[in-house]
Formats: sequence, structure tokens, C-alpha cells
Amino acid sequence: MKLDPDLKLRIYEKVGIYASRFSILEPKILLTTREVLDMPRKMTEGARTSAYKYLGLSYNGQNLIFINIRKISDEKDLENTIVHELIHQRFPYLSHGKRFNKLVRQGLRGKKFLPYQKRK
Ligand SMILES: [Zn+2]
Repeated sequence: MKLDPDLKLRIYEKVGIYASRFSILEPKILLTTREVLDMPRKMTEGARTSAYKYLGLSYNGQNLIFINIRKISDEKDLENTIVHELIHQRFPYLSHGKRFNKLVRQGLRGKKFLPYQKRK
């Protein structure tokens, strides 16, 4: 997709809506690999120069996500990627798999999640 001010605004809007449903802080959103590289190294550790390969990334514990607009082809991809990365933010201990995918599907359907509580 082409990054223009209108698309940018819609992304902020979507992230805002889902962040509130998932009871997480609205993360800072990076939309280009340039922005990823311009972030302090500490915040993007583990995925800096490799960021271009992915549709999106969640920097857990940093309240930061990357949505790779260049690589995203349509509205559906965009929605999926936003929800995927925000599920990472809300469920930071959870890795990819069946349970993760189920939460993404539920999120896309509008499900709300209570705030994350660190397990004792
Ligand atoms: Zn992921």
C-alpha cells in the first residue's frame, strides 16, 4: 500500500480502537523501515535490519509496533497485521501457534480483552 496522510490517519484510528479493546496502551507506530532504523537501538533490539522482511513487528515491553506498509497489499492484510501485532502487545508471553491465531481471530471479530496481569 502507498503511505499517504489519509492511510496514516486510518492506521492510527484502527490501532487506537483495537488498543482500547485489548486494554493496552496505544503503542508508538513505525510505518517504514527507515523509522525502525532511526529508533534507539535498545528499543528495536533483535529486529532492525531484518524488519523489511515482515508485514509487521511487535517490540514487546517497548510499547512499540512496526506496520510494514510497503509490504502490505490490501485492507485485509492491514487489519490482520495490526491485530496480530497488538495481540503480541497484549499477550507478550504468548508465541505463535493455535492459541495465538485464535486470539487474533477473536480480536478481528471485535472481542475485548481485560488488562494484562503479570502471572505470579
Ligand atoms: Zn507475530
